[in-house]
Parts: sequence; C-alpha cells; structure tokens
Amino acid sequence: MDSANGHQATDQPTEDKGAEDTRTATPDQPRPPSAADIDRAVAAFARSPRPVRLRCGVQRYGWGDRTFIPSMLGQPTPASEPQAELWVGDHPNLPSVAELDDAPVPLDQLIDAQPEAVLGRQTVRRYGAQLPFLFKVLSAAAPLSIQAHPNRTQAVVGFARESDAGLPLSDPRRNYQDPNHKPELLVALTDFHALRGFRPLSEIDRELKRHPSLGGLAARLGGCRRGLEALYATFMRIPQPEVDRLLAPVIADCATRASDPSDTEAERCRWLLRADMLHGAHGQHDRGLLSFLLLNLVHLRPGEAIFLPAGELHSYLDGAGLELMANSNNVLRGGLTNKHIDVDALLSVLRVDPKPAQVLHPVADDGDSETTRYDPPVEEFALRILTPRRVHAAHIGRDGPTLGLVLEGSDLALTAGESTLALSTGDAFLIPAGVEADLCVEPGARIALATVGAGAGAGAPG
Ligand SMILES: [Zn+2]
Repeated sequence: MDSANGHQATDQPTEDKGAEDTRTATPDQPRPPSAADIDRAVAAFARSPRPVRLRCGVQRYGWGDRTFIPSMLGQPTPASEPQAELWVGDHPNLPSVAELDDAPVPLDQLIDAQPEAVLGRQTVRRYGAQLPFLFKVLSAAAPLSIQAHPNRTQAVVGFARESDAGLPLSDPRRNYQDPNHKPELLVALTDFHALRGFRPLSEIDRELKRHPSLGGLAARLGGCRRGLEALYATFMRIPQPEVDRLLAPVIADCATRASDPSDTEAERCRWLLRADMLHGAHGQHDRGLLSFLLLNLVHLRPGEAIFLPAGELHSYLDGAGLELMANSNNVLRGGLTNKHIDVDALLSVLRVDPKPAQVLHPVADDGDSETTRYDPPVEEFALRILTPRRVHAAHIGRDGPTLGLVLEGSDLALTAGESTLALSTGDAFLIPAGVEADLCVEPGARIALATVGAGAGAGAPG
C-alpha cells in the first residue's frame, strides 16, 4: 500500500510484533530499477556520501492503531487496517528504502554493498555491515503480547539452535530471527500504558493473598525472589483447565474493583478485564492475565521513557511512542497473543528482579535547552529530540550513522555540501557517518535523531 509519502505497508497483517513478520516487497515503482541502475546509484553514493531520504515500511500487526501513524504520514484516517509500527532501519524483516539520486535502493542492500560509506569504519569494525540499531514509531490500540527479549549470548545460541534444526526464518515456531540481543527504549509520544518488570515482593504478596484461588501460588512466593521465579514458572506450565479455575474468580473480583473509584488498583483491574475480553474465549482465560497482577503498571506522559534490558517481562498496553532498540527482532512470548508461545524459551531468558518501575526523563543535551537526550545504558544507541524555539540551524551527523525522523514540522532543510533535502512531518532520513549536515528548522518543529550510543568505541561488545 503506497501513499503520496511513498510509505509502504506489509502485505500480510500479523497479530503480534516479532518473528512472524514476512519480508515485504519494495514499494511499487513505475519501472523497477535494473541491477545496473542500482549499481550505478550505489557507486555514485559511495563516491560522495550525503544525507538521503528513507521510504519506510509499516507493520500491520493486529494490535496497531489506525490513526497515529497514518496521520503522521499525511494519509487518510482512520486507515482501513491497523498500522502498528513504522520501521526506520535496515532490518531484513522490513528494510527502509534509500532514495539515492539514480535509483531507490533497500537500505540493507546499500549497507551490504558500501558498509563503510554508510556506517563508518569504526561502526563496521564493531557491529559488522549492519546498523547497530533499529528505530520505530509504535502505536498500539490494544495490549501486545507479554514478552521478554534475550541477551546477546542467549540470542547467538538460540539462533544457531533453530537454524541447525532446519527451521526457516519464516516458520511461525521460530523464536530467534537473528543472533542479536534486543534491549529497547520506548519514549512516549502520547499518554502510554505498559506493564514492565515484576512489582516489589510485598505488593505481589498482598495481591495474591487477596484472591483465595491463588492461595497456592501465594504460599510458593515465600517473600523471596526465587519463590517468585518458581511461582511464575509453575503457573506458566499448569494445564489450561487449572488456569481457568484459578483465574475465573480473579476476573470476577476485578470486575467489581474496576468500577470502584476508591480502589487504588481499579486501573490495573480495567486493563486485566480488557485483555481478558480480547484474548479469552469459550470460558478459557489467557495465562498471560496473571502478569497484570505480578508486573508494574506504568503510565508514561509524553516525553517520559522506559528502558527494557534483556530478560525483563513487559507488555505495551496502549499509546504511541518512539522505540529504539538493538537491531534485532527476537521476541519470546508468554501470553496474550495468537502467535507462537514458547514457555521454556521465555523462562530460559527471564530476569526476575522485583522492584518499582523506573521511568526515564530526558536530559538537556550539553547545555542546549532545545535538544533533549535519552542515554540508555547500552552502547548500540542513543536518542536526541530537537525542539527549536526559534529558526535554528543544528549541526548533526559525523560520528557514526544517524537516522532521523521529523515528528512535527514543515519546510525543514537538511543540507550537506551541495545537497539539500526538503523535509516535513513523517519524513525519515539517513545521515551517513562522516557527513556533517545542517538542519534548518522552523520554531515548533520536533525531530528525533537516533545515533550510536555514547559507549560505542570503548572495549569489545560484551
Ligand atoms: Zn519488547
């Protein structure tokens, strides 16, 4: 599905984020460029690297909202299908297309052909011929699956095991799409709700003891982290009729509490009921519902963020945000999805560290009050947001590759040497490593810039 903006959408809608994505055909072209056109365009780019506009694909996962992403792209709303994630990057599941002077070239092909021209020598040496990060706009109208992501070692082992077993990447039973870890940063663009990480043990204890049907689980907790680990693993493996027997009274209790304004857990109860409505059927209840009792419920205001390290259980519930992650699509699921759930694989990466949820606030970028920065504790990526209050020329680029996205604004000009790109809301762009560009911005504009993290260049990947 192409638009005036030239954004593509995947051909096959899927219910869940992650491994089941199908690779999408590149957007329609009046006349597809020939191999010679592409070679010529790539060679010209390598002689003189410059900022390029990116045409980005949209994943139509079933939980996606129909308004936020289409409206950012200047398309009619509501869209006829959910528009869950706009992908800016080179991940082979949905690479963006670089609009070079002579021909459009998928970004993964461009990087494959000329890695140092795009990424710079240092990034290639460190991460190979691919971007270290993947950048997305995510917009959820319904809860995503309960999930966690592997660390790098687990991903290498898991990817090799599934490849050795002969599972093709398109196989829906596949957990590992690539051998990379996937720490992720989510910055809210609207009010945003999520479940993340286990609540403090005292809160879990109080919650479980409230429900007579969960008395057996409460007894296992024993007020310690290992008890919580055992309790979760046990619950995830019990037969479905037992899940239904345990959860049915909890759901009935939540139905009462949800409408009680004096109940401090009323909002949590409403989310649980909503998930049950979406994923329960024929008297059966999804075992992922227990996570609504065990995990921290987080409400982010626009600009607030969460960082999810490897192994942390989470689910995004609703809202739109920017998502920046290591360049991976490895998702291990524990419920609230029609897609592949592999409990053993999830439990093997799970990190049980019960504590209150931490919310990240942006910091001013080196004394520049018009630029804010999110520096998650990873080497692969960092995020800056430019919000000029006056006509403003920002110098960006140079150290490693930069992926940019105009969140708001018109008549922006991105200039490097002789080349100028005119940009407006919804436009995405790449500034290759070593290229310094000036971004001329009107007041009121907002531009997100994803770069390699501050830790890059020091030591070896851990
Ligand atoms: Zn995730």
